[in-house]
Amino acid sequence: MNFYHVKRHRVNSLDYAQPIPAIIDSLDENIIYRDDIYDREPLGNEWGKGYTTLIGDASHPVQPNLGQGGCMAIEDAFELVKYLVIGQAKGEEIPTSLRQFEQSRSSRVAKVFTVSRQVGQLAQTDSAFGCWLRDSIYRLTPTWLGDLQFKWLFDYQPKLPDSDLMSPSK
Ligand SMILES: Cc1cc2nc3c(=O)[nH]c(=O)nc-3n(C[C@H](O)[C@H](O)[C@H](O)COP(=O)(O)OP(=O)(O)OC[C@H]3O[C@@H](n4cnc5c(N)ncnc54)[C@H](O)[C@@H]3O)c2cc1C
Repeated sequence: MNFYHVKRHRVNSLDYAQPIPAIIDSLDENIIYRDDIYDREPLGNEWGKGYTTLIGDASHPVQPNLGQGGCMAIEDAFELVKYLVIGQAKGEEIPTSLRQFEQSRSSRVAKVFTVSRQVGQLAQTDSAFGCWLRDSIYRLTPTWLGDLQFKWLFDYQPKLPDSDLMSPSK
């Protein structure tokens, strides 16, 4: 946020209940730190080469509209280890396991990226009609429908490999 944004928030928050205007009034523009947030189009089915792969924001940065960037990094870590263990048990080369890992993650991270951008566009709209539409959608959507809409996201369960593949003796 910079001086311009603080001024704009002061104007926009005139009708807000206290303490919002008081908080914004008390801001010292000179010590405000601004750090923009970027996402990046998904990299497809492969994002590494040879013995190198990426996980987390390095491979699929999203805007924090769904609160899923950190979760996806944790999912990546689990899946990466899984494919390395399976690959080792099958006697596969490590690069093969890394490409399998990337392929296994590509559709989910692309879907999270797409939905996150859509939610962001809706949430950050600033036209009068857009705000009215967004607020109406949020107000009228029953909780169960919202939960159902994001079931694919929050009910995600990583698949465990066959237990004999995980056995250290294999
Ligand atoms: C405002 C905001 C809110 C968010 N809210 C949520 C949320 O509610 N839930 C959620 O799941 N996610 C959320 N996220 C996303 C989440 O923070 C990121 O997706 C997550 O931190 C990515 O983890 P990472 O390990 O891939 O990358 P990072 O957390 O960015 O870690 C990378 C690390 O590498 C270090 N590094 C960089 N370059 C080098 C180098 N050359 N040498 C050594 N070290 C280096 C960096 O300093 C950093 O510590 C939010 C993000 C933002 C910005």
